Amino acid sequence: MFDLVFKNARVLDGTGAPWFRADVAVKDGFVVRVGRIEGESKKVIDAKAKYLAPGFIDTHSHSDSELVENPTADSKILQGVTLEVIGQCGSSAAPRNMGLRNEDDEEPAEEGPQWTDMASYMEVLESQGVSVNVAPLVGHGTVRRQVMGAEARAATPEEVGQMKRLVRDAMEQGAFGMSSGLIYVPGRYSETSEVIELAEVVAEYDGIYFTHIRNESNLLLEALAEAVAIGNKAQLPVQISHFKAMREPNWGKVPEAIAMIEKAREDGLDITADQYPYIASSTGMSSPLPASAWTGGEGSERLRDPEERKKILEQLKAGGYWDRIVVANLEHPDDQKYIGKSVEEIGRIQGITTEEAALGLLERNRGTVQIVNFAMNEDNVRMIMKLPWVMVGSDGSALNVATAKGKPHPRNYGTFVRVLGRYVREYNVLRLEEAVRKMTSLPAMRLGLQDRGILKQGMRADLVLFDAGTVVDNATFTDPHRYASGIDYVAVNGVIVVENGVHNGARPGMILRQGLESVELARRTRH
Ligand SMILES: [Zn+2]
Repeated sequence: MFDLVFKNARVLDGTGAPWFRADVAVKDGFVVRVGRIEGESKKVIDAKAKYLAPGFIDTHSHSDSELVENPTADSKILQGVTLEVIGQCGSSAAPRNMGLRNEDDEEPAEEGPQWTDMASYMEVLESQGVSVNVAPLVGHGTVRRQVMGAEARAATPEEVGQMKRLVRDAMEQGAFGMSSGLIYVPGRYSETSEVIELAEVVAEYDGIYFTHIRNESNLLLEALAEAVAIGNKAQLPVQISHFKAMREPNWGKVPEAIAMIEKAREDGLDITADQYPYIASSTGMSSPLPASAWTGGEGSERLRDPEERKKILEQLKAGGYWDRIVVANLEHPDDQKYIGKSVEEIGRIQGITTEEAALGLLERNRGTVQIVNFAMNEDNVRMIMKLPWVMVGSDGSALNVATAKGKPHPRNYGTFVRVLGRYVREYNVLRLEEAVRKMTSLPAMRLGLQDRGILKQGMRADLVLFDAGTVVDNATFTDPHRYASGIDYVAVNGVIVVENGVHNGARPGMILRQGLESVELARRTRH
């Protein structure tokens, strides 16, 4: 007796091969047969005219804390995502509160589950259950903060030693690698040598170095060269996160950036990339002052000095492109009406210059203004998407429309189905088989997962059944909290989570531990 049989599906096996018609049977969490299946099954799904593929792997997810608050991972699972690679851009949920600095630096105890290291974080996820599988990375910025706070200086050898200890612990506990966010505080204060030393520890455990490179605009090529150097020096695979060129003067650099990566591959570095299918990025509004300035700390006196204030406005003006920067979320009640508007528009409404409007938003919201920045080029998006070594990664979090706030980037809800609905069906940028490969076997190989990413007998039953004629993203920049359509069924580890396009609340996800499959299996049988 099978647990589940998909009848008459068009099978996309994830390798990029053309679809073939078959039945697919699942038992005890695994695909046990692909072909014509006669045996009895507890559940049979008529899959005729639909495509059955391995579950999609989100190579670049920021769901770390969302999975604690929203373990059903709705916005992701409803796009067909069955595995999220979290801990990206230098920022992971663990380690935290490790007691390496004085108590003032510790995060205040919040309501809800608590953790410190990677192992205890993974146990929190496991004990409450999650709907998706999770593969965690340890964040370089998170590790640095534990040791040095947000101090804007190079690390001492002792501090690097402490960071190495934390990275080693996370790798021992099953992290798949380390991510860096060299554009953000505190990662931006690190020298290349610091990252190399930590990456060497990651390499010892067969880990991968994921990187949000130091610069994605004027210094794109220089930042890429740094990532290549880190990979070569530390001898480990490199993943360039959300590969792109920001700001119009840099759009022409993409072919050269691609050539650099391909040259590095030719020379023997295992380097790949991921991408989200949008021409806007989502981030915090960049400010010319340190974060503490807005809360009365370091730099705040500059805001009160009229001469200094003028200089700050000039710096904001040099940042430019305010017509392409749209406010996505902020806290101050008086500013809620500006959500969804560009900073230029806000200046017009307030009758002040664009720079004054930007400064006002930063001041009232204590430096924290979430924005969406339309700084990319559609031709570049397509050029990058076609590269065989580029996979799909949302750069987004698992959200739920019931607890929706602000106007986050639509990629949280739409990345994977947007590739299928727009870039495959409408724009003909990719073949369907190739798009699915970029969401399944390619990232599975990247992560070294031998039992996921391809649909065949013996593999874990992470499966997605979709309608290639209707699958599409519904989330937009103005109306982002909308689930995808066209995803009919999703199974995670053989358990149905999405049924007729609706999340049924099941939480069969596994927290994967690199190099510790036996632990994973032991936990699995205990549950
Ligand atoms: Zn990033």
